[in-house]
Amino acid sequence: MNAYAEPPPTRCLTSVLDQQRKAFLSEPTPDVATRRTHLARLRHAVLAYRREMETAISADFGNRSRHETGIMELVSVIQAIDYLSRKLSRFMKRERRHVSFIYQAGRAYVEYQPKGVIGIMAPWNYPIALTMIPLATAIAAGNRVMLKPSELTRRTSEVIHRMLSEIFAPEEVAVVLGGPEVGADFSHLAFDHLLFTGSTQVGKKVMEAASKHLVPVTLELGGKSPVIVSRGHINQRTLNSIVFGKLSNGGQTCVAPDYALVHEDDLDRFVQAYTNTVARFYPDGPTSDDYTSIVTDGHYARLLNLIGDARRKGAKVIEGGVTPERAATRTRTIPPILITEANDEMKVMQEEIFGPILPVRTYRTIDEVIDYVNARPRPLALYYFGSDIVERDAVLMRTTSGNVGVNNTIMHVAQDDLPFGGIGPSGMGAYHGIEGFRAMSHAKGVFVQGHWSLARLLHAPFGKLAEFALATTLRRPGKNVGDRNFVLGR
Ligand code: NAD
Repeated sequence: MNAYAEPPPTRCLTSVLDQQRKAFLSEPTPDVATRRTHLARLRHAVLAYRREMETAISADFGNRSRHETGIMELVSVIQAIDYLSRKLSRFMKRERRHVSFIYQAGRAYVEYQPKGVIGIMAPWNYPIALTMIPLATAIAAGNRVMLKPSELTRRTSEVIHRMLSEIFAPEEVAVVLGGPEVGADFSHLAFDHLLFTGSTQVGKKVMEAASKHLVPVTLELGGKSPVIVSRGHINQRTLNSIVFGKLSNGGQTCVAPDYALVHEDDLDRFVQAYTNTVARFYPDGPTSDDYTSIVTDGHYARLLNLIGDARRKGAKVIEGGVTPERAATRTRTIPPILITEANDEMKVMQEEIFGPILPVRTYRTIDEVIDYVNARPRPLALYYFGSDIVERDAVLMRTTSGNVGVNNTIMHVAQDDLPFGGIGPSGMGAYHGIEGFRAMSHAKGVFVQGHWSLARLLHAPFGKLAEFALATTLRRPGKNVGDRNFVLGR
């Protein structure tokens, strides 16, 4: 049966939300054992459905190897579930906070309480990892979940729907299938938190819709992530990592290096080394079973358009070790492409590429690189390859990006204990690590008054104690006020 045939009407979505909220209120704080059971159920189901998901994804894309699905998605999901299960008691633990002298003998602590019902909206490019990791985080934090996967990988979304319906009741986890219209209705629901992964353009609409009910959002968006190669640092390790990050999933990765900044003296060596490395990764060229196709005809046409636009505007287009004729023998396959002499007038330097095309810009000084990055929207990831610590620190300290990889690409996403997210146009908030658990929990501050309390002595009528409290807390600053132009003291 095609689960997409009849998209749910808005009132249906609202009734699922009401049902989930009711269930949440009847059991608002699931204990650690219940949450672990939910995570274990999810883990078991993902492994049981492994082959079905690999097949569905490959059919959705046109081609994607089961190894790539395993390495880039399933391993991350299982790793994230295990991480959350392991850390859960620590994450859920009440956190003691400082109480200042005049509020003694009180106690202050933070309780991380489930928020309630979390909405999760996902894109198509990693349709398992980008649904299952947010889902695992939300249920680890004790929430109910409504999940809307992408319509562009509909076979995979249907498998996810079936899998989750088998292991969770609809008031625990509900999957909503449909396209942009359903997405728009979904984003208007009065969730307790909404995690959206997708394009910056749709992210803005989703945030606007969420604002109607003041729903807090985590936005995991896209952008142009630069890879900076330090002068003279063209070596096999660097190239392996850049080619891996760029060409995995046919370049359709949010944190893929979007463009490269290479020293002008290194350009020829970089081009040669990139081309050789591509040929080593994919000896059969883009018809290799290991090389992923482009997800839809529309995305394929957009990428061809980027290449044509760059060529027309004077760029040099180099096919990475394979010929386009061979690529043409398989559905929606674009060979790995390097673009040199790219300039900012070209679309390839303006839009997020999201395909196997790497434009290369040259630089003379690292300051030029830093200025170039800072003149553009803050990226989701920034990569630096080099061994000059001073230069590396200059790049890290003077640029702002969601995350950074040093001498590697995309591996930061696999670090379960690191927050993952963007900044500005590349996103808002983060998940993974304790940050993900906390994003889906309410940090409720609680102050418990002690039996004996100094603060009570400060009530009217005021006396000596109030004088003492004011004198000690409002005393003049010491010497350490910093700026010598600080002229308040009279
Ligand atoms: P998209 O924004 O088109 O779609 C994402 C989700 O939003 C889908 O479920 C879709 O059905 C829904 N949607 C589409 N139009 C909508 C609308 N008008 N209102 C509400 N919902 C709507 O993104 P995509 O094309 O699926 O994914 C590619 C983008 O996602 C790229 O920009 C990529 O960088 C980004 N991305 C980011 C991350 C991250 O973790 N930061 C990860 C993967 C992809």
